[in-house]
Amino acid sequence: GIAIGIDIGGTKIAFGFVDEQGEVLAKGSLKTDLTVSPSEMLGRVADALKQLAEQQQLSLEGIKGIGVGAPGPLNTQKGELTCPPNLKSWWGFPVVEELKKHLPFPIKMENDATAATLAEKWIGAAKDSEHFIFITISTGIGAGIFMHGKLLTGSTGNAGDAGFMLVDQAGTPWENVASGTAVARQATELLGREVTSKEAFDLAAQGDPQMSELVNRVFTSIGMGCVSLINILDPNKIVIGGGVSQVGDPLFSAVRDYVSQNALNPSGREAAIVPALLQQDAGLIGAAALVQQAY
Ligand code: ADP
Repeated sequence: GIAIGIDIGGTKIAFGFVDEQGEVLAKGSLKTDLTVSPSEMLGRVADALKQLAEQQQLSLEGIKGIGVGAPGPLNTQKGELTCPPNLKSWWGFPVVEELKKHLPFPIKMENDATAATLAEKWIGAAKDSEHFIFITISTGIGAGIFMHGKLLTGSTGNAGDAGFMLVDQAGTPWENVASGTAVARQATELLGREVTSKEAFDLAAQGDPQMSELVNRVFTSIGMGCVSLINILDPNKIVIGGGVSQVGDPLFSAVRDYVSQNALNPSGREAAIVPALLQQDAGLIGAAALVQQAY
């Protein structure tokens, strides 16, 4: 059967039809319009999905269910978004109940990073692992935990919110140090002009001393976060995705070095640190995975 995937984000909502092999059959997206109500916005998504099905001659009869990936903090028991910082007008909104009104299929909702974790297990970089952690380093930092062959979701679906690990005495969350947003902010402060995260990494690669120091600090912070997660959860693999992972080898080498020297036990030091395989459509495929894969 075919699954509908819906990936709700602060800038856009991606949606589409995904088959049992993880193939995207048809997709679309709508800009998240924060000037209209969440129910209006979800009505538009449902209409767009129906239109897409018609265009592609996909019968809605054969739909197995709908998977929804959404930013946390959320409550998957209640089917609502609790207080995601980039979707303030959606706080407390019953997403699952509302979608059911438009599309009469079974619905599963999980945190977006948790959904992406299942996608990496399904058709991505963690097919071979029963114990791994997925980390996405982008606007913020998100993560998902897959242990003993199952997703670890927690009591309300917020397990793995690693971006909120506190990394110093002041209570600074990890993502305020090591996300793309945090790199851009620190680089901008240091150079006294607007600097993007990509530019900061590029300047560091070219040998700029201030940017090299910043980037090394950020790589160390990413390594430290990985070591903490490895020490707590004992995975054999860490999959890293998100915009910042595009930096590629300098980041992966630095994190591998840090982990191989600092994880507490020898098996943890050997955990594989690998890039995510799913880039394009990762959110959409992750959402559909919630329907296509048992978890
Ligand atoms: P989102 O957070 O919406 O999922 P991305 O995963 O693309 O989006 O992450 C966006 C963040 O990643 C931004 O802070 C951006 O500056 C940073 N980023 C995107 N591409 C790169 C790159 N090639 N190198 C370094 N940073 C990048």
